[in-house]
Formats: sequence, C-alpha cells, structure tokens
Amino acid sequence: MKFPRKTHWTCDIKPELDGQEVTLCGWVWEIRDIGKIKFIVLRDREGFVQITVKKGFASDDALELVKKLKKEDVIAVRGVVKASKIAKAGVEVLAKEIHLLNEVKMMPLDIWGNVESELGTRLRYRAADLKRPENLAIFKISSTVVRAMRETFYKHRFIEVFTPKIIATCTEGGADLFEVQYFEKKAYLAQSPQLYKEQLTASLERVFEIGPAFRAEKHNTNYHLNEFISVDAEAAFMDYNDIMNIIDELICNVYETVSKLHEEELKLLKVELPKLKRPFKKITYDEAIDLLNKRGIEVKYGEDIPHAGLEVLYEEICEPFYIIDWPTEIRPFYTMPKEDDPKKSESFDLVIKGLEIASGSTRIHTREMLEKAIRDRGLDPEAFRYHLEVYDWGMPPHAGFGLGLYRLLMVMLNKENIREVVLYPRDRFRLIP
Ligand code: ATP
Ligand code: MN
Repeated sequence: MKFPRKTHWTCDIKPELDGQEVTLCGWVWEIRDIGKIKFIVLRDREGFVQITVKKGFASDDALELVKKLKKEDVIAVRGVVKASKIAKAGVEVLAKEIHLLNEVKMMPLDIWGNVESELGTRLRYRAADLKRPENLAIFKISSTVVRAMRETFYKHRFIEVFTPKIIATCTEGGADLFEVQYFEKKAYLAQSPQLYKEQLTASLERVFEIGPAFRAEKHNTNYHLNEFISVDAEAAFMDYNDIMNIIDELICNVYETVSKLHEEELKLLKVELPKLKRPFKKITYDEAIDLLNKRGIEVKYGEDIPHAGLEVLYEEICEPFYIIDWPTEIRPFYTMPKEDDPKKSESFDLVIKGLEIASGSTRIHTREMLEKAIRDRGLDPEAFRYHLEVYDWGMPPHAGFGLGLYRLLMVMLNKENIREVVLYPRDRFRLIP
C-alpha cells in the first residue's frame, strides 16, 4: 500500500510553521461540517490538530473522501500549516490530500469521553480504550518514569541486566510460584530476581533490572497483580542507608522529570505532583507500632503492618517515608540482622501515600550466616545449593531493593486501582486480552 510518510506529529504543528507543507498520520477524532468547509480533528499519540478541508485548496478526491469519513478512520493528511486565530491551538493544517489508510468498522466503547465505561469493560476492550487521551497520558508518563529511573541508576554506575524468568527453584521458599512445564521437568516463573542480582554483585558490582515478576498470590486487591514490573537494584559495598539515599534520589528525579516533561498530561489527569524533600523521613518499626497502637490500630510487635496501618501512618507523616529496622524473623532469609541487636534487621519499606512501594535491606554476605538464616526459617539449605556455593567465591557486602513500578505510578497519578496504569493487567480473573 502506498501512502505518504508522517513528517510531523500533532505536537510539532505550531504557528511558527506557517506556510510549511507537512504530512500527518493518525485517526479521525471528530468531524465538523459547516457546509462548504469541513473540519477534521486528527489525533495521534501526541495530541490533536485541526485539519481544514475546503474547496479550491483540497483535491477533489479529498473533498469526496471527507464526506464519508468516520471517527477512528485511519488517515494520512498532506497539507499546509496555517497560523489561525480561530483554531483552538492557534494553528490548523489546510488539507491538500487525504489518504484513507484503514476504515473503522466499529468501536467497542466510547473513547470520546461522553460516557466513561467502567474499568472492567475498558480492560476487556483495552486496545480501543488505550486510544483515550487519559490513557495516552498515563502510558507516556509511565515511559518517562522508567527513563528517569535509568538515568539515576546510570549516574551511580549501575548497569542494566536481565536475569532468567524461568527458574528451577524458588527464590525465597515461598509458595506463591507459578509452575510451568519445562520439557521433562517442572520449572517456575520467577517471583523476583533476588538471588541472581545478589550473585551479580560479585562480578558486576552494581546492577539493576526492570522486568516482570510473577506471583501466584490469590488476593484480589486494588494494588496486587499476578504479573508486575519490578524495578530491582543491588549494589556491592553498600548498606541499606546507601540504598535509601539512592531511592530518595531516584523518586525525586522521577517526580521532577515527569513534572518538567508532562505538564499537559498531568493537567489532563488532574494531577499535581508535589515537590518532594530529600532525604525522606525514616521511622523505625518499633516507632510505627507504638504510633499505631496509640491511634487504636492493634498491631502486635513482630507482625507485618497491614495496609490500613500504613494509611494511618501516612495521615500522620503526610510525605513519603521509610519504616526501617524490621524484626529479622518477618523479613526474607537474606536480610542482614543488626549487629548490636540481631532480632532487628537492616531493612526498610518505602511507603508513599499509605502504600508500600519498595522493600530493601542490607543482605547477608557470608555463607555460614546465610545457611543458618535459611535453616532458622525452616527451609532446606540443600534447595539453595547453587546459590550458597557462590558465597564461597568472594561475595562482597551488598544491599539492594525491589520497587513496584505500577504501585509508584498509581500513587503518582492518584489512581485508586493499579489496573489503570497497566496496559494489559494480569490478575486472578483476567488472562485475556
Ligand atoms: P505486599 O506486602 O504489598 O504484598 P511484598 O512485600 O510481598 O508486597 P516485595 O516482595 O517486597 O512485595 O516486592 C517489592 C515491591 O514490589 C513491593 O514493595 C511492591 O511495590 C511490589 N509488588 C509486590 N507484589 C506485588 C504485586 N502482587 N502486584 C504489584 N506490585 C507488587
Ligand atoms: Mn515488601
């Protein structure tokens, strides 16, 4: 099929281009017919441009075609930019030629904003739903978030790695693994790159990975999915305080970069990003429990803090904060106990707007200690043979964290449901599309 190539995106069409010939490709968003002149609002990923089709300027074919165009038809328009006081953005494109690249047959839902369909329906027809300007904004911001994170990692000499997602043994002895048939054997989908990224500190020193994590958790909440993107980092010669400093910088860079590059998208989403102050506050697990008990929320010492508890702490603190020094026994086996008080550990959770966004810690780096920690949790060291042997080969002291990308997006964009910020969410009841 022959068609002219896109020379400009809608966002490039500015009054300064007056008189220039351009080709735009996109979708018909709206058509207005005022007799002799017809207007098409053309959408592409970056926005909208008014296309004006009038006799004497547009080709005869274009004049014929425009009569039968429908919303969401795919078109290429060759025309001339014209600065204009009447057009919305102060600029329009006078069409010379219009090419119909594909005809729309139907749209399964209203993307024009007249009636917002409910989330379940939108996810069922996700590819259509993603054409909505709100969703274009969300997923452009999502891409910028990942880019800003990479910037911070590279600045601190982390390199990006990819660890296997099909694994033979469980990462943390947990039960939340999806089984897969791997030829004659049973394998699992990785719930985290934890053990691999730790091993890599012995060679690559500072690594990060942004990739999928799979968890066969049955809970059905607004902030859990069975597949999510985990931002993982691990660094040799650091402890949990060094790691929290890096996370502070990473989150602040994300907020600042998104504020700078996505003013319009944020306005459309009605989001005002706060200016965050570094370093983020830290409270100890003990302080958090005391505070909660004072507020009438009963959490026993040594238990995990429930989501409702985090929300209460947020009402108190009102900014991102860390809960540090968790009881060793409720953290994963690789967590380093505190030297002066081994019942506590060098660990943290980052909480933003009452939601857990990241978890991290200093890790154990000697084989003896790690083996004991595995045993203490009732796990079998033999199951971790290929991991434990690495600790004989010159394992550096190290620390790291895992951060849920979708959780971060959710709190940044004030979304009630994590599914809003995921292209094709996977939950217990959703495998299609
Ligand atoms: P939670 O207690 O909220 O279930 P977790 O402590 O089990 O989370 P971690 O193992 O600490 O999760 O994983 C690191 C980060 O990954 C979490 O802080 C969270 O942001 C994100 N995350 C964990 N599980 C999920 C999930 N099922 N869906 C989306 N994000 C998740
Ligand atoms: Mn956690």
